[in-house]
Amino acid sequence: MSKPKPSDPTIFSKIIGREIPADIVYEDDECLAFKDINPCAPVHILVIPKKPIPRLCDASKEDMVLLGHLNLVANQVAADAGVGDAFRLVVNNGEGACQSVFHLHYHVIGGRTLQWPPG
Ligand code: 5GP
Repeated sequence: MSKPKPSDPTIFSKIIGREIPADIVYEDDECLAFKDINPCAPVHILVIPKKPIPRLCDASKEDMVLLGHLNLVANQVAADAGVGDAFRLVVNNGEGACQSVFHLHYHVIGGRTLQWPPG
């Protein structure tokens, strides 16, 4: 099987299209938030735009409002999960930064002591 290209539809497109299940905690016209299938903390939620932007570095000025919205939704889902005062927002941008799904996503991580710097 050939290696997926950043432009290929991803597993997250299938979650948006309800082709595969996910534990969805928030949805609106622009974005979706669901629990990570392999959580690294008691709270580990992914916030994704419905627009298939592969990586953060592929976003453009026209995505400015959308990117702001994703941040506010991250705030909201963290608060709803009870970690609104202490959570980490992570974007892995590109293979070299451990991005494995090429559909922009923010990891909302909390519910345990978080160390700094991250690995
Ligand atoms: P990345 O490494 O690209 O920053 O993060 C991808 C995240 O997506 C990982 O934390 C991984 O556990 C999660 N993930 C991958 N496939 C699925 C899936 O099918 N469902 C859910 N809910 N999460 C997934």
